[in-house]
Amino acid sequence: MRPIARQSASPGHDIQKKRPLGKGVDQWGKPLYNPGTMSVRVRYAPSPTGFQHIGGVRTALFNYLYARHVGGTFILRLEDTDQARSTVEFERDILDHLHWLGLEWDEGPAAGGLDERGPFGPYRQMARLPRYAEAAERLRAQDRAYPCYCTPEELDGDRRAQEAAKEPARYMGRCATLTADERAAREAEGRRPALRFRIEPGIVAFDDLVRGHVEIDASALGGDLVILRADGTPLYHFTVVVDDAAMGITHVIRGEDHLSNTPKHILLFRALGHPEPVFAHLPLILNPDRTKMSKRKSQTAVKDYIAEGFVREAFVNYLAYLGWSPGTEEDVLALDQIVERFDLEAVQKGGAVFTERASNGSTASGSGAFRTTTSSTGSRRSWRPIGSPAGSTGPRSAARSQRSCRSSVSGSRSWARSATSSGSSSRMPWSSTPPSWSRSAGSAAR
Ligand code: GLU
Repeated sequence: MRPIARQSASPGHDIQKKRPLGKGVDQWGKPLYNPGTMSVRVRYAPSPTGFQHIGGVRTALFNYLYARHVGGTFILRLEDTDQARSTVEFERDILDHLHWLGLEWDEGPAAGGLDERGPFGPYRQMARLPRYAEAAERLRAQDRAYPCYCTPEELDGDRRAQEAAKEPARYMGRCATLTADERAAREAEGRRPALRFRIEPGIVAFDDLVRGHVEIDASALGGDLVILRADGTPLYHFTVVVDDAAMGITHVIRGEDHLSNTPKHILLFRALGHPEPVFAHLPLILNPDRTKMSKRKSQTAVKDYIAEGFVREAFVNYLAYLGWSPGTEEDVLALDQIVERFDLEAVQKGGAVFTERASNGSTASGSGAFRTTTSSTGSRRSWRPIGSPAGSTGPRSAARSQRSCRSSVSGSRSWARSATSSGSSSRMPWSSTPPSWSRSAGSAAR
């Protein structure tokens, strides 16, 4: 493990868990593997704008694994500010699948009959609007942000001119230096301003736990950034930073598609006077043809895999190997074993290929098989995603995969047996009275 001293050194990250802890176990009675790092706080922050997909649950799982490995806190935050696209159905789908996978959160929103838990709520962004307004006002008062009166037509014109000149799109700064009188004149015309954050020139550098040292020139960030729309609603880059700061997040673990957002977030953390968290950007999940995984080419919704009868333990095992490996010959690990072995430093940089289900029908309910690959020696089931660090191709790996799969098909793995018989996790803290949404998820899973 890389020491996380850099984090504990900053006062903003000295948040200790309030719950009394047993010796060597967390509040769910699970063993702590690294009890010295109790202040780690990570979050899974999905937007309920679509069905929970493979990339989302892989991010949730890696956050969970890291939190559990170091005895930290796993937080669920619903990022529902895109009101046009957020729905209750998608929110339920996210919660159902976290529940199904056994990824219980320590802090999170009220949902499905559960009370909100945790001292940093609300954990739903639409309930946090006054906090964004307050933070925006702070930046405006310090002139780190300014009102922008540009009309959509003006911005469109700028974009077209930049396109014609083959320049990257960026805000031209038309409103960056308006005087008080010029602002007043625009207000008098009835224009309502957006609020833009000043992106100062310079190099933004950070050490990503997966990608290593990253440097991005701020001039490539598209110019000053809108953080509040003219109607006062906040935008993603702003809400995520305000919340990560307020919730004391120490490690931001998310997909590599967010890597280009990180410099903007770092600049916002600094402007808000908050120590920036450590970042870990997980490798992209790729289609078999090594293009970015997409709905068009792959089945991406978790619910579709459950409907086909995939068992939870196999699914978790497979997801964990999408970018990580224990560095051993172990192919089949249960969640607790993965927690024990998990290390962010062992996460690979290169994309992880997601290969879908078997073509020979071997993924029938309860079989425990996850996929097959076809090689010159015939059709084989494999647990390990192509491109995972320990390698999944080659005869040795294929034989290993075949072996492990056979054992799960024949039911000799105790977890495979329990997976087929138990359905939803019995270790969930609310298992005695499952919320209504988890019951429906359970029936979908069976
Ligand atoms: N709500 C964002 C998403 O779903 C999360 C971004 C983040 O983890 O910072 O992509």
